[in-house]
Amino acid sequence: MTASTKLRWALAGADDNPRLFDVDGLVDRHVGTGAFAGLEFLHVNARTIINEVPQASRLGFRFTVNAYRGCSHACAYCFARPSHAYLGLGIAEDFDRRIVVKVNAVECLRSELRSRRWQGDHIAMGTNTDPYQRAEGRYHLTRGIIEVLSQHRNPFSIVTKSTLVLRDLDLLVEAAKRTEVRLHLSVGTLDRSVWRLTEPGTPPPDKRLAAVRRLNDAGVPCGVLIAPILPGLSDADAQVRELAEACAAAGAASVTVVPLHLRAGVREHFLAFLRRERPDLVALYEERFARGAYQPASEQRRLSALVAARLPSPAARRRAPVQRAGGDERTGPCAGAHGPGARS
Ligand code: SF4
Repeated sequence: MTASTKLRWALAGADDNPRLFDVDGLVDRHVGTGAFAGLEFLHVNARTIINEVPQASRLGFRFTVNAYRGCSHACAYCFARPSHAYLGLGIAEDFDRRIVVKVNAVECLRSELRSRRWQGDHIAMGTNTDPYQRAEGRYHLTRGIIEVLSQHRNPFSIVTKSTLVLRDLDLLVEAAKRTEVRLHLSVGTLDRSVWRLTEPGTPPPDKRLAAVRRLNDAGVPCGVLIAPILPGLSDADAQVRELAEACAAAGAASVTVVPLHLRAGVREHFLAFLRRERPDLVALYEERFARGAYQPASEQRRLSALVAARLPSPAARRRAPVQRAGGDERTGPCAGAHGPGARS
């Protein structure tokens, strides 16, 4: 930790049972049992819940709300991992299992939306960790947040890899009648072996596409982020084409393809994962990311062309969904991306 690093939480003491403390205030610690076995929930009272993204950021949103930190979906490539180090926790197993829960998130949001300073801007969720990860089944904070946003007719968007979003279908339908609501399910591959290996805590990809269908059928616009495409694992032409076709068949309101990128911290984590699980691919990744976090622009062009060719024609797109085949880093970790500033 450097003096210039503004920590909001830090580990206190070096005993076997380290405790979180800080200005936001750790209030309790729960060890998960039953459906939540293997998880630990660190309850904190957040001072504020709406986070303003720095203007200089390349992210495509200005305000975010994240009720959880860490994510039991445990995607090996997740770009939110370094945000756990920011709390004084580890970016590997701690990120997957020790979940910070802002237990007062709903009350905080209600109070901040009532403030005269709040201008009713769009609020993005899923920019740091998945709002429908397993913890949500226990805490219902995302549901409460949607209720409050809907009551205030405040526009919002959600990115998730979880079918748990369907639990809130009633609320989302109602909210979509009152304000602008945008949903994205993130689905990076249909290949079950790649899914199990790289996203072990997430629901199966076909179930996520079925959720896309149900949301759109119910009147909640829901797109798909094909993200991230993993070199040597999910980037074969046939794999990408098949997934794009499945998105179109599911009635996705938009389709965006995002190639993997690996920033410092995540890069080391992911390469260690490959050395354990797929050592045959290490050389490929070292070559692809030899010049930094991003793959050559030609890879984005190749993927975009593959996806675009499998989406409905421009005329059909004008009649119904907006289909897009580009990709960027503006949507959050479930798109395989996470940028500075989205730390709430
Ligand atoms: S990519 Fe999304 S779903 Fe996967 S661990 Fe990160 S936040 Fe969770």
